[in-house]
Amino acid sequence: MYYYSTNNRGHHATLKQAVTSGQAPDKGLYMPQQIPILPETFYANLKGLPFDEIALKVSWALFRNDLELTDLRRIVEDSLNFQIPLVEVEEDIYSLELFHGPTLAFKDVGARFMARLLGHFLKDEDKEVTVLVATSGDTGSAVAHGFLNVPGIRVVILYPSGKVSPLQEKQLTTLGQNITALEVNGSFDDCQALVKLAFADEELNKRVNLTSANSINIARLVPQSFYYHYAWSQLPAGKDDKVVVCVPSGNFGNISAGLIAKRMGLPIHRFVAATNANDVVPQYLQTGTYIPRPSVATCSNAMDVGNPSNFARMMDLYNNDHDALANDLVGYAITDAETKFAVKEIQQRTGYLTDPHGAVGYLALKQYLQTEPAIGIFLETAHPAKFIEVVEEVTGNKVEIPEALASLQHLPKLAHKIEADLEALKAHL
Ligand SMILES: *Cc1c(COP(=O)(O)O)cnc(C)c1O
Repeated sequence: MYYYSTNNRGHHATLKQAVTSGQAPDKGLYMPQQIPILPETFYANLKGLPFDEIALKVSWALFRNDLELTDLRRIVEDSLNFQIPLVEVEEDIYSLELFHGPTLAFKDVGARFMARLLGHFLKDEDKEVTVLVATSGDTGSAVAHGFLNVPGIRVVILYPSGKVSPLQEKQLTTLGQNITALEVNGSFDDCQALVKLAFADEELNKRVNLTSANSINIARLVPQSFYYHYAWSQLPAGKDDKVVVCVPSGNFGNISAGLIAKRMGLPIHRFVAATNANDVVPQYLQTGTYIPRPSVATCSNAMDVGNPSNFARMMDLYNNDHDALANDLVGYAITDAETKFAVKEIQQRTGYLTDPHGAVGYLALKQYLQTEPAIGIFLETAHPAKFIEVVEEVTGNKVEIPEALASLQHLPKLAHKIEADLEALKAHL
């Protein structure tokens, strides 16, 4: 199957081209030419299937002409080797826990899958590829862990010195092996600007095969559609009729994957986009006018995005038809005060501890459920320990740090300090 650019449906790329380049030459995002519709028998038999089997069936529908089944099976099984349980929080409200991967956030799913797919496409080429990624925290560690020890691939992460949390820095800088961490004397914007300069530098690109692993890569998006199927498959009998799924959203990649799953035939009644104060998409859904603006800082900082890159994908999926999109997708914005109160209130009332992003999702879901009764699922996108400062402050309780994070605290930091300067970066490439 070919992949077209959201800027030009006439532009065609193979899966390999789309995955290795990340973005179309015209800066559009890649979309599959056809979203396969899965047969009703598939959904009738979904209940009780293990996650990797569901993932294999869904991905095979998309990739059957681009990969051998045995290769796809290996990629799926290697990348999705952790639990994604659906947990009942209160009556008719469930949390899909996406934080049981190595870096404790849902980005592990996309990053691990993309790493293995890219590794597969590059295995017959004797050139080494360098994945360059700028991070404000979560993305870099998911990408780094995803690519750890993948043959033929080197990862160089740029992060702003002093602007990631101590735990996040440990996740970025303790891996070694094929991962290089560069601690940039500057801001996240400086890191991103450096990456752009590197991709535009002729001399460098002659010498090094650079690629990007940012979240617009189609290989990060597609695997996120698998767990919507798995979530639905875990609902108890009789609870799967009218299901609303709420997704805490920033760049809107995660929810785009959900809308793709719905297009494939997954019987989700409606999606809810939950945002913090960065609410350009809820605004668009209400007014029909899209007005991007600079992001503001919130306590659910992985969603501080003022111009979500996957907005173009959602519009493409709905043929730029606002009403059609607004029929499937409802948006709510949640304030920091509401979020913090909810982290504490949900725990006191139900015993369930959310992180700030999950709490945003929970609250938006509750708002939706006031408009009509349904079975609700919200995505818990990160482990509460990843946002330990906020969670401990509002609950007044210590958060237990999972072993995967705690063990990093004793490992030495392996990072090179550089100035925010292209020549300094090139010296490490
Ligand atoms: C990245 C991230 C989000 C936002 O996901 P998008 O796909 O960008 O909408 C939400 N929660 C957490 C914890 C994240 O790391």
